Amino acid sequence: MSLPGRPEGDYRNAPHEGSPVSAAPAAGIAGRIAGTVRADIRELAAYPVANAEGCIKLDAMECPYELPEAVREDIARAVRDTPLNRYPAADLSALEQAVKAAFGVPDAADVLFGNGSDELIHIIVQACCNPGDAVLSPWPSFVYFDMAARFDHARFIGVPLTTDLTLDLPAMLAAIREHQPKVVFLAVPNNPTGGLWSDEDVQAIIATAPGLVVLDEAYQPFADRTWMPQVLDAPNVVVMRTVSKIGLAGLRFGYLAGHPAWIAELNKVRPPYNLDVLTQATLSAVLRHKPVLDEQAARLRADRGPLAAALAQLPGVRVFPSAGNFVLARFSGKLDGNAVHLALKTRKILIRNFSNAHPLLADCLRISVGAPAENAALLSALQEILSA
Ligand code: PMP
Repeated sequence: MSLPGRPEGDYRNAPHEGSPVSAAPAAGIAGRIAGTVRADIRELAAYPVANAEGCIKLDAMECPYELPEAVREDIARAVRDTPLNRYPAADLSALEQAVKAAFGVPDAADVLFGNGSDELIHIIVQACCNPGDAVLSPWPSFVYFDMAARFDHARFIGVPLTTDLTLDLPAMLAAIREHQPKVVFLAVPNNPTGGLWSDEDVQAIIATAPGLVVLDEAYQPFADRTWMPQVLDAPNVVVMRTVSKIGLAGLRFGYLAGHPAWIAELNKVRPPYNLDVLTQATLSAVLRHKPVLDEQAARLRADRGPLAAALAQLPGVRVFPSAGNFVLARFSGKLDGNAVHLALKTRKILIRNFSNAHPLLADCLRISVGAPAENAALLSALQEILSA
């Protein structure tokens, strides 16, 4: 959803978007809301989700492939046999074991499940931060680090990347020393830039951070590197993952792996029954076919290079190196980022516009790697748009 007259990625000063109501009660309600809802919340817009009906959808880093018939049959059986009249069971150890085995979580680590990793981000901030405590991340990065921190009364510190959108390690270390953050979020690879921070840089941040460092590996399936085997090596690290980018964005499932002592504390903040029975049943069924997910991720990873190379051939386009299932490109030819985004939208091709989100992202558009036909449609539309 892009609000009329407002740049995408700008969440401030949102107009209320409810259905029309009569003036008198509305005036009363407006007064009550002004006196009740936090001022900073009133100024926000809800997290934007575009209406994608009939569009080629390359805006949210979803996997473009549907699960094969055999997997869907398995899911259908598992869901059919799941009782809905009871709350989810307290003991999730079977699913925990399946997740640990499927995703290479060390035996000695524990896992915490979230309704998407978005929920885990909240849980971490809520468990760690008193009002006003700092939460820190390189910036721009995943916008929800900032939003969740604010919602949960923490103080968000975004440390600017370099103009090449790489990590500014000296600035990061200086900011960590200055602000003493309770939590540092590091998306590895980073969203929306696609960069993968070096091992040495990540290690230096872990060594300097006084509190918890969350290595958010949402895009790890498309990268060469994972911190998962080392999650227990430092006293202040947890690794967060999601299944959203590997074919299951509709499911809402994320997990956090870490030392049992960290997981036990964070678990106290988890909303009761946060993982519903249908998600549990579906995930258990899908994990029996884990190679299908791996194969889909491998296809996207293989298609990323050719897509990036083809984009880089277009006039006035700079493509930033990406280790995710997306690429970030800057459009500074005849048409700027906003114009290219709009022209693609008119052709029913959705990508994400960051042109107005942050000065470092001026004229930048983020493009998910799609199925081959979708990538081809995008490229031919861009050729047409940029040569017009
Ligand atoms: N972390 C990063 C870096 C992301 O980009 C996203 C989603 N775009 C998430 C976490 C959240 O993933 P989900 O809530 O779908 O698990």
